[in-house]
Amino acid sequence: MANSDNRIVLITGGSGGLGRAIARAFAQAGSRVVISGRNLKTLENAATGMSRDGVEVDYFVCDVTRKEEVEILAERIGRQLGTVQILINNAGIARAAGFLEMPDAMWEEILQTNLTGAYNCCKVFLSGMMQSNWGRIINIASTTAKVGYPYVTAYTASKHGVLGLTRALALETARRGVTVNAICPGYLNNELTRDNARRMAEKTGKTVEEVLAVFAASSPQDRLIEPEEVASLALMLASEKSAGITGQAISIDGGTVMA
Ligand code: NDP
Repeated sequence: MANSDNRIVLITGGSGGLGRAIARAFAQAGSRVVISGRNLKTLENAATGMSRDGVEVDYFVCDVTRKEEVEILAERIGRQLGTVQILINNAGIARAAGFLEMPDAMWEEILQTNLTGAYNCCKVFLSGMMQSNWGRIINIASTTAKVGYPYVTAYTASKHGVLGLTRALALETARRGVTVNAICPGYLNNELTRDNARRMAEKTGKTVEEVLAVFAASSPQDRLIEPEEVASLALMLASEKSAGITGQAISIDGGTVMA
C-alpha cells in the first residue's frame, strides 16, 4: 500500500490479536512501527514473534488510561524515533454483564480504557500532527459503535463515544492535513472472540464451537472477520490517497450493520 513508508505509526494495544496484525501490515508496508500495552512480557513476545518473521517493531509499556504515561510515551518515541504521524487507537477491553448486575467498577474500567484511553492518545499525539500538517488517527471502534447490543452496555457506550470523538475531531482537524476515522469490525477471528465464546458457552451450556457459529451466523457472510482484513483497511485509511476520507466510521463486518 502506498505511502505509509517511513511514517511513524503508534498502535496502542499492539500486543493483542488485532494490534499485532495491524503492526505487521504497517511494518511490511515500510512504516516505523511502535506498539504499546500495559504488559511488558506480552509486548516482548509480540515483537519477538514478528521479528522471527522478519518484521521489526519497537515497543513501550503504556497504560492508555493514565495520561501521564501517554505523555511519557510520546516523549520517549519523540526522542528515539520522531513524531508519531499515524495513531491507531486500538487498545480496548470487552466485558459482558446484565446492566443491573454490572458492577460500577466495570463501567468505569471500560469507559476509561476504550474511550478515555483514545481521548488521552488523541490529546497527546495530535499536536505533533497539526504542527507538520499531516496526520492520521484511526480509532478501532466496533459495530457496537453504531447499534446497541444487550449485556454489553458499557462496551457499547464506550464505542459509541469513540465515534463521537472521531466525528467531532475530524471537523476540528479537517483543514490541517489530519484525518480522523473509525473502523468498526464485527466479530474477529481471534482470541478475544474465543474468550467471549468460552464465557458464553459456560453460561448457556453450548460448546465453544456452537457459540462461535452463532457469532459467525450473525453476519450475512456467515463468518468471522480476519484481523488482517482490518489491518488492510487501516493501511488504506493511512495512505496518502485517502486524504479525503475523514470523520467516517467504516464497518468491516460482512454486511451486518449497514449504517
Ligand atoms: P485483545 O484483548 O487481543 O487486545 C487488546 C490489547 O489492548 C492488548 O494489547 C492489551 O494489552 C491492550 N490494552 C488493554 N487495556 C489497555 C490499557 N489500559 N492500556 C494500554 N493497552 C491496553 O483484543 P483485540 O485485539 O481483539 O481488540 C483490539 C480492539 O479491537 C479493541 O479496541 C476491541 O474493542 C476492538 N474490537 C475487537 C473485536 C473482536 O471481535 N475481537 C470486534 C470489534 C472491535 P495489555 O493487556 O498488556 O495492556
